[in-house]
Amino acid sequence: MTPTDPLLSIVIPVHNEADVIATLLNRLVLVCRQLGTATELLFVDDGSRDNSVALLLQARRRYPDIRVLQLSRNFGKEAAVSAGLTHAKGDAVILMDADLQDPPELIPDMVAQWRNGADVVLMKRRTRAGESWLKRATASLFYRLINHISDAPIPVDTGDFRLMSRRTVDALNQLPERNRYLKGMFAWVGMPTVTLEFDRDPRLAGKTKWNYLKLAHLAMEGITSFSTRPLRIALILGLLAAGAGGLFGTWEVLKALLMGVSTPGYASMIAMITFLSGVQLLCVGLLGEYVGRIYMETKQRPVFILAEDSDEHIQEYQPTL
Ligand code: UDP
Ligand code: MG
Repeated sequence: MTPTDPLLSIVIPVHNEADVIATLLNRLVLVCRQLGTATELLFVDDGSRDNSVALLLQARRRYPDIRVLQLSRNFGKEAAVSAGLTHAKGDAVILMDADLQDPPELIPDMVAQWRNGADVVLMKRRTRAGESWLKRATASLFYRLINHISDAPIPVDTGDFRLMSRRTVDALNQLPERNRYLKGMFAWVGMPTVTLEFDRDPRLAGKTKWNYLKLAHLAMEGITSFSTRPLRIALILGLLAAGAGGLFGTWEVLKALLMGVSTPGYASMIAMITFLSGVQLLCVGLLGEYVGRIYMETKQRPVFILAEDSDEHIQEYQPTL
């Protein structure tokens, strides 16, 4: 299954990573030289405002294996990775972060597994150095929740660091959705997978680009992109509330007929009204989340716009995916 002279693409999304690029390249180039296969280092610049691009293009003069794609603005990591995956030419593609949290020294092990026939080599975090307990706790809660409601479970403690065979990448590139929740998409595509464990390093320099608001957004994306089960839960909630309301109403009417009308009950009425209107608003909001996603999908906008490709100069606007 392995071709005679395979090409390995390493896709790296970059957003304001000027502080780490020199170290990243040094370590990557050392590793790639020992690999014994041709490699393509595909950097996707996601609208960096520092001199990341200049550094990469400068390095390209020394290492021609480097290719730099520049998106027209900051589209977010998921879009940057999608851009890399659609443009990678390799027979296998490795995804990794620029900040050296994913050690390049593990690449030979990943390639070895691929040569043994694995389609996906997943890198599972044994430890997560440099992450607060709060981030770890919320991450674990999120995985448990999403795996409870979605059909293709996402392996716990894995990120985007992974190797994928050509057919896996092609399968991923076929998924047409604009809301790209990659973790879920990887899981949905499946394919024979080997999992390796590693110790995740803290970020080498610079700051994480994530905050809790962005993570909450991503979590919502994950839940609504891969399951309509929340809608069913809303339906069941509605049925239960309606049933309980009906029973309570009948009871009240019977009581009034048999024992005469009594006025008290203000407190219970207020409690019922506020509770039920709360549930209704919640369900309408939930519906809105799905409707909003349908709206975004129907616009059929490309996931990213490529402004520049170091391999070929792009003259015209190119809608991709
Ligand atoms: N990144 C990106 N676009 C963004 C934010 C991040 O391409 O809008 C890249 C970033 O340069 C890095 C990777 O995504 O290579 C992971 O980002 P980060 O290290 O900030 O996330 P964390 O590791 O904290 O989850
Ligand atoms: Mg990081």
